[in-house]
Amino acid sequence: MCLFNPTMATGSNSLIWFRKGLRIHDNPALEHAAKVSDFLYPVFVIDPHYMEPDVTAFSPGSKRAGLNRIRFLLESLVDLDLSLKRLGSRLLVLKGEPSQVLIRCLKEWSINKLCFEYDTDPYYQALGNQVKSYASAAGIEIFSPVSHTLFNPADIIQKNGGRPPLSYQSFIKLAGEPSWASSPVSNGLSWLPPVGNCSTTEVLSMEELGYHDSEEDERTPFKGGESEALRRLRESLSNKEWVANFEKPKGDPSAFLSPATTVLSPYLKFGCLSSRYFYQCIQGIQRSVKKHTSPPVSLLGQLLWRDFFYTVAFGTPNFDRMKDNRICKQIPWKNDDELLAAWRDGRTGFPWIDAIMVQLHKWGWMHHLARHCVACFLTRGDLFVHWEKGRDVFERLLIDSDWAINNGNWLWLSCSSFFYQYNRIYSPISFGKKYDPNGNYIRHFLPVLKDMPKEYIYEPWTAPLSIQINAKCIIGKDYPKPVVSHDSASKECKQILYEAYELNKKLNGMVSEEDLKNLRRKLEDRNNPESKSKRLKQTRIG
Ligand code: FAD
Repeated sequence: MCLFNPTMATGSNSLIWFRKGLRIHDNPALEHAAKVSDFLYPVFVIDPHYMEPDVTAFSPGSKRAGLNRIRFLLESLVDLDLSLKRLGSRLLVLKGEPSQVLIRCLKEWSINKLCFEYDTDPYYQALGNQVKSYASAAGIEIFSPVSHTLFNPADIIQKNGGRPPLSYQSFIKLAGEPSWASSPVSNGLSWLPPVGNCSTTEVLSMEELGYHDSEEDERTPFKGGESEALRRLRESLSNKEWVANFEKPKGDPSAFLSPATTVLSPYLKFGCLSSRYFYQCIQGIQRSVKKHTSPPVSLLGQLLWRDFFYTVAFGTPNFDRMKDNRICKQIPWKNDDELLAAWRDGRTGFPWIDAIMVQLHKWGWMHHLARHCVACFLTRGDLFVHWEKGRDVFERLLIDSDWAINNGNWLWLSCSSFFYQYNRIYSPISFGKKYDPNGNYIRHFLPVLKDMPKEYIYEPWTAPLSIQINAKCIIGKDYPKPVVSHDSASKECKQILYEAYELNKKLNGMVSEEDLKNLRRKLEDRNNPESKSKRLKQTRIG
């Protein structure tokens, strides 16, 4: 029997809906809810859209998330629940389509104030709008502050006359200084009343969600949660000299035991760490030293890149695709599922590329330059596969998978937007060698090559058979031959991009599907005159 009837409560009943923003520090939605309510319901909804196991996916996990990210989220929820318990409350976990679940809770608990962090991701925008429209009609007050980013993307777009700034420098000029991060909620939270007919649980385990631990061999070393985010932040910032001299893109992409960057991205993604608080801490260090690097290469500059992509993504219709995206060059990418699968599964025959993709599967995180190499290789560097396909693989497997940043960087790396120097290609052979001549990174993530002598580790197909036998790795049997010849493939990619850019220029970006098809055909015919005459013959017969 439920003794408490929320409808009889004379005070205010608030609900804080956690989506990202899984933290106690700098959380204005939580702070507000805590201040104004007599009764507070902290809620997280397990959304099948992201969490339902999918046995048909190319690796363990759900349709949209690999196991590493699902586990990272659950760890973050456990940590949040502990923090709420310390404040005299707890996290109420529910399962189902979030807007339906939320609306049921709003009714059942007679909520009169709904608080949640504003989210620019289109999926969460749509969910937020559904819940908001019910809440407004029901007379429920809504508080939805911007606290996932340093700035409000809408403000920057407005300052720029209604369009997002398309270069980092113009973004910086408009942005100014972010508002100050608020202190962690430290006073006890309002009483949590009984939950009535809404079936809430504790944070679920992987097994309770339908996943099995034996599905992977090596797991990500990064553990989710605000406590871990703050510990990692303290550790990264404890070396003031390192912070002051931080300069991207310098830094070793092959350093995996001790990564060259902060690895705070997954914590920023889920909002276990506030970007404003991170920014303020860096600023404090910069003020205490004589000299420091500046944006775009400094650590502070990296956080501004994050906000830059958030702003452009928010203000650009169809930002996540080539079609009908006004900032995206129209390019006749190939639809080659075999090449895509070889890249995705780390079977291209280029150990540097394959090791990075294995790190993605096993850890869900790779260094920024490593991401550059594999994204360039899949698209404009070698395989000429559509950037949207690579984006999907990253989106599913990264633990820091972020709609705005991921799409923005794929647009960049494929020379579809922001960056247009398509002649600058990362070599899948010599780039990694510069940092790691012995190939330790490759040996770790591709143990099949662990005994390959260093002379051949980046190009094992050039090793004489006797060496391959000694290394217990026969190329073509134990490890694949390269799927393309880098020299000729990269030359061809540059040529196609040249022609595609010319076409975009001539048609002022208004390139149709038909134009792209014609260009693709023209290029195929040039490379393969036999297929041209066959096609012409077929057309004549037809
Ligand atoms: P640090 O160098 O320590 O930087 C601190 C923070 O700054 C990062 O945590 C991140 O929030 C931000 N940042 C750094 N670089 C960038 C950048 N280029 N663009 C935007 N923000 C940046 N990052 C994601 O967070 N999620 C993604 O889904 C994602 N997809 C990417 C896809 C491709 C093809 C490429 C090339 C890059 C992608 N990045 C993505 C950007 C970048 O690689 C990561 O943010 C960075 O490597 C994370 O490591 P870190 O936290 O140690 O970074």
